[in-house]
Amino acid sequence: MKQAKIGTRAIWAGEQDALAFGATQVPIVQSVSFGYDDMEEWYEVAIGKKHGHIYGRNTNPTVQAFEAKIMDLEGAEAATSFSTGMAAISNTLATFLYPGDRIVSIKDTYGGTNKIFTEFLPKQQIDVVLCETGAHDAIAAEVDKGCKILYLETPTNPTVKITDIKRMADVGKQAGAIVIVDNTFATPINQNPLALGADLVIHSATKFLGGHADALGGVVCGSTDLVDAIYHYREINGATLDPMSAYLLLRGMKTLKLRVDKQSENALAVAKYLQTVDIVEDVYYPGLSTHHGYDIAVNQMRQYGGMLSFAVKGGVTTVSKLLPQLNYANRAANLGSVETIVGPSRTTSHVECTSEERAAMGIPEGLIRYSAGIEDIEDLIEDLEQAFQKIHDKRAVI
Ligand SMILES: *Cc1c(COP(=O)(O)O)cnc(C)c1O
Repeated sequence: MKQAKIGTRAIWAGEQDALAFGATQVPIVQSVSFGYDDMEEWYEVAIGKKHGHIYGRNTNPTVQAFEAKIMDLEGAEAATSFSTGMAAISNTLATFLYPGDRIVSIKDTYGGTNKIFTEFLPKQQIDVVLCETGAHDAIAAEVDKGCKILYLETPTNPTVKITDIKRMADVGKQAGAIVIVDNTFATPINQNPLALGADLVIHSATKFLGGHADALGGVVCGSTDLVDAIYHYREINGATLDPMSAYLLLRGMKTLKLRVDKQSENALAVAKYLQTVDIVEDVYYPGLSTHHGYDIAVNQMRQYGGMLSFAVKGGVTTVSKLLPQLNYANRAANLGSVETIVGPSRTTSHVECTSEERAAMGIPEGLIRYSAGIEDIEDLIEDLEQAFQKIHDKRAVI
């Protein structure tokens, strides 16, 4: 049968093996363990000769359905899930990195990932090289010197910088590195890193995959060899996704295509609107032809995603006045949900960093991260308009 399109697969893929009692929906299998009357069968499941479940830290049917769905959407052979996105990242790195190894990455990764690179890996005698994000030649030169892992994130959090995945995956392959891409911002709807040559793709499922800000989770997809090794690390170290969260993520993913299409459309419209606002100094969105990564984004992304950021004149003072005026936005640290979410980088993606560290990463203190929801676009733009108007009026009074 011809393979269905991604929106159809988001609904149907991965669920068949977990269905029971004729129910059309995957059950939440809220059970710590799975019992066997037949000792031989138990043994065969234990050694992996027969499909089945033994203990919830290892596998669970609801969790496996979630893994099977994302695996299908990313075009991967295998996937293994985690309690959070950070668990997916830390466990994946810990599976492959040993003292004396070298990892090459970029300066603009997610704040928590950056902390692993700057705080935790060096304590384990792992050599971490962080290149300027988007400096493809510099990254290639570092990879050529030899490394175990090339770790990328594109678009990045929060200034949505773009890295050429295909070009960097080729460089990584030649150097014998495992190429990992955090695809949280783009989602499989807009970008498939494995098809562009990456070895592993990681998601914070907490964000767009779940899409309703009600469950934490993470996942890694790739070849069976690599994912089996990561699964083994996780089953022993224990950062397992729980069945209730797996169910919520699975349900959220059914509308992934609808949501991400609408969020991408809304983000582009908001970005274009913000370019016309006086008090806005800079707008960062890869779908704007003025964005430095636009040419690469056009080639490797189908749409440019729901995330953008913008810098306002007057820094933190303006940010603090502006954000409370918005009626249709949560002021919160997460992103990728159905509702619009705003926040300054210093309290969201890069709360772990000092203001000096943020400045070094090119994150202005007046930067606002904007995660477009699925609201009607007219309302989002009017909401921004009235908020800008209010702070403008206040300044006139002062
Ligand atoms: C949120 C996020 C993470 C971490 O995910 P958690 O589920 O919060 O642990 C990693 N990478 C990116 C790009 C993120 O936005």
